[in-house]
Amino acid sequence: MFSEWRGAGREVAVIGLGKSGGAAARLLRHHGIAVYASDGGSGPTLDGQAAILRAAEVAVEVGRHDLDRIGRAVAAIVSPGVPPDAAALQAASAAGVPVLAEAELGLRCLTSSRTLAITGTNGKTTTTALTAHLLVTAGLRAVAAGNIGRPLSAVALEAEPPEWLAVELSSFQLHDMPSLAPTAGVLTNLAPDHLDRYPSLQDYYADKALLFRNATPGSTWITNADDPEVQRMARGVPGAHQRFSVRRSAEAWYDREAGQLMLAGVAILPRRELLLLGDHNVANALAASLAVRMADVRLEAVAEGLRSFRALPHRLEPVREVDGVLWINDSKATNIASTEVALNALDRRYVLLLGGRHKGESYQRLAPLLAARCRAVVAYGEAAPLVEGDLGGSVKVVRAGTLDEVLATARALAEPGDAVLLSPACSSYDMFRNYEERGAEFRAAVESW
Ligand code: ADP
Repeated sequence: MFSEWRGAGREVAVIGLGKSGGAAARLLRHHGIAVYASDGGSGPTLDGQAAILRAAEVAVEVGRHDLDRIGRAVAAIVSPGVPPDAAALQAASAAGVPVLAEAELGLRCLTSSRTLAITGTNGKTTTTALTAHLLVTAGLRAVAAGNIGRPLSAVALEAEPPEWLAVELSSFQLHDMPSLAPTAGVLTNLAPDHLDRYPSLQDYYADKALLFRNATPGSTWITNADDPEVQRMARGVPGAHQRFSVRRSAEAWYDREAGQLMLAGVAILPRRELLLLGDHNVANALAASLAVRMADVRLEAVAEGLRSFRALPHRLEPVREVDGVLWINDSKATNIASTEVALNALDRRYVLLLGGRHKGESYQRLAPLLAARCRAVVAYGEAAPLVEGDLGGSVKVVRAGTLDEVLATARALAEPGDAVLLSPACSSYDMFRNYEERGAEFRAAVESW
């Protein structure tokens, strides 16, 4: 493999030295390829990574990219976090150096594994984790990898490759994966996103459509029948098409009247036995169920896996019930659309914790939803005055400062039978390092009572 990358004077550039870039550099060295790895950032984490890579005989540069050297490389491997307009990438493209995603490199080395590739605007991580969980429950050697936090290059370095890979792919990764040809590809949904990194919505959707780039009549595609944009994109793509729906009959669907999840014409699981909140998660479960049918997982094993799956941290994660009040951590909801999804998933009255660093959208969009079951909004962080201004006219809004104050206020407002939902619709950077830290502190506080 990679014979054209080996030899005197030939070198592959790795751009970005996070987890993915580090794994890519080590994988290339493992295959006897010379590597120049660089990262424009600095700090102790990068210095640690640099030391590990130097020990593996990688030429490492931290704090700057040598653009001339990148321009002379035989290929450039790009980490998922590097924006498309980064100077290092532009230098590679301008010099005609092929740019490949780290995930492409990893997959090229994982030739014996079968791949279920999962993309979409929302639900990628949940569907990917659930797909891997269903495969493992069925007794298969499977891992979740890709954008979910486990680089494919790291999986490729392991002694024994898995039989099955559930691979989460972002649009940025899809952009640079020319040989992607999964056993099945899943498209969960499409909605405007990442408009800070794409010139237009069409450009973003065009990258998503690259899931289908190598489609043949032998391909299998699993798509959301309830999403017209998804169906438009999948129309005419060669291969077998299987659809999931939470509204009407399909290969996998939710029979709401009967309260059953249906797969291949069979009722496989009562809805109440899937311990995830919301129709969106039923859609994720149906998508994953269809995907694992590619591995001939029996219907009973699918049901068993669905039953034993728990919400991922910070995604509508039920933490604990205290005095009849259910506390839910949805810290991952950093925009209005995600908070809307969470509110639609609740079937009881609730106190909503809203705030953080404002991202530009008006909170008024939440007002119609809040009218149904919201007891009060606790507004906090930098966005608190805006939240109060946008929503104060339609629902009770109480301001609070520190996380402790937010929680004490919510505790006083909630009544038995209610939920308290942390679904901030804002980023966390005014008070926390990231959404994970925000969710973890919320969770720790609730668990300490
Ligand atoms: P991603 O990896 O695509 O960001 P996650 O599984 O991490 O997706 O879910 C992130 C958020 O997206 C969830 O908290 C929820 O608000 C929303 N979400 C998850 N699944 C769906 C879905 N199928 N449809 C719409 N929104 C969803």
